[in-house]
Amino acid sequence: MPDIAQLVAAINSRDLTGLVSQLVQIPSISWGPAGEQMGGRFEADMVQFLTDYFRRAGVSTELQEAAPGRHNVLATIPGAGPKSLVLDAHLDTVPVENMEIEPFSGEVRDGRLYGRGACDTKATLGAMMYVVSLLAREKVRPPATIRFTGTVDEETGFCGITALAASGLKADGAVVGEPTDLQLVVATKGAARMKIRATGRAAHTAQPEQGHNAVYDMARVVTALQDRLAPRLARKTHPLVGSPRLTVSIIQGGRRANIVPDECTIDVDRRVLPGETREEVLGEIEAFVQEMRTEIEGAELEVLEPYAFVLGTECTPEDEVYAAAQKAVQAVLGTCRPKGVPYTTHGSTFQQMGIPNITFGAGSIDQAHTANEWVEVAQLPKAAEILLRICLTFGA
Ligand SMILES: [Zn+2]
Repeated sequence: MPDIAQLVAAINSRDLTGLVSQLVQIPSISWGPAGEQMGGRFEADMVQFLTDYFRRAGVSTELQEAAPGRHNVLATIPGAGPKSLVLDAHLDTVPVENMEIEPFSGEVRDGRLYGRGACDTKATLGAMMYVVSLLAREKVRPPATIRFTGTVDEETGFCGITALAASGLKADGAVVGEPTDLQLVVATKGAARMKIRATGRAAHTAQPEQGHNAVYDMARVVTALQDRLAPRLARKTHPLVGSPRLTVSIIQGGRRANIVPDECTIDVDRRVLPGETREEVLGEIEAFVQEMRTEIEGAELEVLEPYAFVLGTECTPEDEVYAAAQKAVQAVLGTCRPKGVPYTTHGSTFQQMGIPNITFGAGSIDQAHTANEWVEVAQLPKAAEILLRICLTFGA
């Protein structure tokens, strides 16, 4: 067993802060006009930086193509035993339009490090890289093999995590790096997004009785979603993440002011609790729409196949990664109350891959994606120490 105290003492806050600042200075926008302005480079400069960083530390890395020109960075520290633990952090950020601060300064001021990605999720990415390189530098053989995965495209299309899953990666646990304010997150919500379409019959608005108004039908569906289905969902609760939520987020219908609309569609975003299945969630929406079909005379309503579906995640104290992380957080912060969060992470895919996972990282989700994103510098060495302790105890 490696000497934990000695390795903890080797964490240098200034080096770690410098590393996170450097990461923030590298643009890695995965979508929006700014992403295109970057000449389609997306995360490419980050990939180069990580590769060089690990090479200097003597860590073996591998690039995994996720899309043309876009690569996950995989780094491995061989372990003493048969188990393995994934440390995952995404390399991309959301766009920088409307930011009030210089997005790529990486400036440290009054105990905060500023810039796009500082909190989501380059602080945690840096802490993971730092820990991996520390293990290599100190020639530590942890109990389990540590597999670092720097993944692309978390903020939009998920091609990074999709490629990782397709590669057949096996592991006994995973830490997903996202801003949790150093808290241990053991449950996350998933999300289902789909369209519901009403089809009517067009007619001249001088004789609306000749047609069937799809907008009128959909108006009743929308009202019933709000008044009837949402309260039903509110009665379901999960101890860590609360209730599923349902939002009608887009409505489109009609062609011209003088034509009775023959089509209207809405987009529904339905948040999913850990344990809820795809069949359950879709069955419930379909049953609701069936009620509406019988209530609205002549309505032609259709639920389209979801264009996004992410399951909720949950791991339990029996999962080794939960126990190791709980001990590590307890040791560093003096207290640990595992919690749930309402957003989705790469954890859903890891769960589908059969890998129990927790979400953990520096910075608050309140600062993620904001106009003046920052992370508290004092959290960086604590995040690194917690990650280091997890790496040194998992699989022992
Ligand atoms: Zn993130």
